Amino acid sequence: MPRPISATLSLSALSHNLDVIRRFAPNSKVWAVVKANGYGHGISRIWKHLSGADGFALLDFKEAILLREAGWEGPILLLEGFFSASDLTAVDRYRLTTSVHSDWQIAALAEAQLSQPVNIYLKVNSGMNRLGFAPERIREIWQQLHALKQVGEITLMSHFATADSTEGVDTQVAVITQAGEGISGPRSLANSAATLWHPSTHHDWVRPGIILYGASPSGQWQDIATTGLQPVMTLSSELIGIQHLHPGDRVGYGARYTALQPQRIGVVACGYADGYPRHAPSGTPVWVDGVRTVTVGTVSMDMLAVDLTPCPQAQIGTPVELWGKNLPVDDVAAACGTLGYELLSALAPRVPVTTA
Ligand SMILES: *Cc1c(COP(=O)(O)O)cnc(C)c1O
Repeated sequence: MPRPISATLSLSALSHNLDVIRRFAPNSKVWAVVKANGYGHGISRIWKHLSGADGFALLDFKEAILLREAGWEGPILLLEGFFSASDLTAVDRYRLTTSVHSDWQIAALAEAQLSQPVNIYLKVNSGMNRLGFAPERIREIWQQLHALKQVGEITLMSHFATADSTEGVDTQVAVITQAGEGISGPRSLANSAATLWHPSTHHDWVRPGIILYGASPSGQWQDIATTGLQPVMTLSSELIGIQHLHPGDRVGYGARYTALQPQRIGVVACGYADGYPRHAPSGTPVWVDGVRTVTVGTVSMDMLAVDLTPCPQAQIGTPVELWGKNLPVDDVAAACGTLGYELLSALAPRVPVTTA
């Protein structure tokens, strides 16, 4: 029998989440963001169920080529652009849309021999200071690009740092608006948080990622609880051991958990080599035998321990959900001081994935 851990993907949840996004941004086209192998879900498994999107956005050439060769004919956007001038061969051959964020990329485009003009996402650094040109240079850069025969349509693009928090997007929006004054053509600004919470940023193309997979851009499940978004990935396993602790008995590496009273604990076939966070503290929520309980002790490579006090019927073979349909990944991530983004995209290759 195989080790009992597996990840199950609800494919209907994916297309449903895309419908929810359409309702939030009815007048915009949608880039389905599938970087990091579809946030850990596997591009080849999921893309057909997102093919109602207007395009796919990602950043690895390998992933872009996989999508093309799988049969996706529509737009593909390279969110980080090309990494060397020689990449333009693949941009041309696979008809990719590329972001442009640095001067060397413009020089490379000007030198390139292409079979057709390439569509460009001109990246404005509106305050995040990750990728992009300074806002006061945008008009000059736009003119440079516009003059090149290698360049087709130019879309102004920027990315928000705080669309999921009370700080909002106003400061960055003001920068983008000013940078783009007098420049015609499409705009693409909104990530998941802005797609849900800042409709004025939707413009021509939205770029939702995490909400396609049914997790919250803020890290708080309550923030998306009323949207109708559904979790796509359920990570489940089983109890493979039971221990009866006496007061003072300790659990796991570092002996970081001590029983204060007689306690039954279960050992789950899931550890950090499966993608479960090693830094999950005792008290991280976990769903066992239909009830929500907590982890105890340090997560090992292949196992973790859970408190069975609220689930007295649980025994070897009892199903455990690490996150998913019954336990939002956001709740697990919050207990670990991280986001659903990190947990989903870290699902380890050794975990078998099934679709439902
Ligand atoms: C990852 C990414 C997105 C999607 O972000 P979410 O928060 O997952 O919606 C959009 N735009 C860019 C440039 C990105 O890098």
